[in-house]
Amino acid sequence: MEQNVVDDPNYNSDALESVHSSDDERGKKHEQFPEFNEKTDMKNPTLTLGLVFRDHVQFKRALIMYSLVNRYGEIHFPRNEKLKVTAKCAKRCPWKCCVGKMYGSKTIQIKTILDEHTCGRTWANKNMKSHLLTDFNCQIRVESRLWKNEGYKALDRALKIIEGKHAEQYTKLWDYAEKVRNTNPGSIMKVKLDRGRFQRIYVCLGACKEGFKSGCRPLIGLDGCYLKSVHEGQLLCAVGIYPNDETWDIAYAVVEMENKSSWIWFLELLVDDVGVVNQEGWTFISDQQNGLIPAFQKVLPNSHHRFCVRHLYTNFRNLFKWKTLKDALWSVVKTTAVPHFKKVMEDMKKLDEKAYNWLMKKLAHHWSKSHFETYPKCDMLLNNLCESFNDVILVPRQKLIVIMLLLIHTLLMKRIQMRRIQW
Ligand SMILES: [Zn+2]
Repeated sequence: MEQNVVDDPNYNSDALESVHSSDDERGKKHEQFPEFNEKTDMKNPTLTLGLVFRDHVQFKRALIMYSLVNRYGEIHFPRNEKLKVTAKCAKRCPWKCCVGKMYGSKTIQIKTILDEHTCGRTWANKNMKSHLLTDFNCQIRVESRLWKNEGYKALDRALKIIEGKHAEQYTKLWDYAEKVRNTNPGSIMKVKLDRGRFQRIYVCLGACKEGFKSGCRPLIGLDGCYLKSVHEGQLLCAVGIYPNDETWDIAYAVVEMENKSSWIWFLELLVDDVGVVNQEGWTFISDQQNGLIPAFQKVLPNSHHRFCVRHLYTNFRNLFKWKTLKDALWSVVKTTAVPHFKKVMEDMKKLDEKAYNWLMKKLAHHWSKSHFETYPKCDMLLNNLCESFNDVILVPRQKLIVIMLLLIHTLLMKRIQMRRIQW
C-alpha cells in the first residue's frame, strides 16, 4: 500500500525545537520523524515513511545501498533534483520511493513509499560501485561477471585502507615498547630495522622471564607459526615447562620469515634473557624448523636438542607402512635404557633392515628417551609445549601488529594471574 506524508506544517522534523518551545500555538504535540543515521543505517537501509535525510546525495546513496543489499538491481532515479528525488524500480515493478522538502526547511524526507516489489532479485546491479562497498564496509557477494570488476576494485580499495592502518601501527611500536618497559619491569623488547624499515620485534615480558628463571626446568620448546594479517610474517616462540608439568611462556618474536638468520637473532636474545651460561645443562625441543638446526649449531652448539617424534614418525610412515614397524618404532622411541634400546633396534632389524638402517642414520639422542640428557628431569618426546601458546594466539595473529602484541601480552598476564590463584 502506498503511504504518503502530506506537507502539513505540523509535520515538522525540527520537532525537538517545537516540542520544547513554549509558544506552541496549536497546543498539539508535533510528531518527530526518524532520521537516517549514516553510520548505523547505511549497511542495510530500511526505508520508512517520513524518514529524514541530510540531503539528496545521502538519500541516493542510501537507496543504492538498499538496492545492493536487497538485490533489486533495477532501482533508478527518473527525477533527480536537489529537493525532489523519485526512485523507481524495474519497468513493471510498482515499487517507488519519493523524497521532498520538509515544511519550512531544506531538509528532505520520504514523502511517498510503496514498498512492494514484483521484480525478481538479481546479483547484477548497475548501482554497484566500488567506493560504496569500501566506504560502508559492506559484504556483498559479487556473482555476476559483469559486476565482478567493481567487486575487485572494492577489494583493492579495502586492502589499501587496511594497509594504511597497518603502516600506522609500525609507528606506534616504539610507544608500545616504552609502555611495556614501564609497566612490566624487566621486560625486554627489541626492534630490528632493515634499512630504516621494520623487520623484527622480540618480546620477553619481565613476569614471564622471572617466572621461568625461578621455577622452570632447563628445557625449552621452540616453534614458529604464520601470521594471518595483511602483511606476511611469522611468529617464533619459546615455551618452558614448570615442575608440575604445566607450560610456561618465555618469549616470542615477529620475524619476516623462519630462517637461519631469524632463528639466530631470536636464540641469541633468548639465551641472554634466560641466562643460558652453561649450554651443556640445557635441552631444546623443536620440530627442526626451517633454519633452526644451523642456528643451533651457531648459538647453542653444546646444548642438547630433541626433535619432535611426531615428525620422525610422519617421515617414517611415508616410507614404511607396516603397522608392526610402527609399533617397533614407538618402542624404540620410548625405551629408557641404552641396552634395551639396542635390543629393540635389533628386533626392528629382523623385521625390516631398510627401516633399521633409516633409523640408525638419525642420531638417537635427538629422539629416543634412552639417550636423552637426564638433567632436565623431563622425558618429553613431542614438541607439545608450544601448542598451548599457539592456541592462545589463534585470534591475535589475525590482527595488526601492535594489536596482536597487546592481545598476546594481556592473555599471557591473565594466564599468570590465573595460575597464581590455582597453584
Ligand atoms: Zn522491484
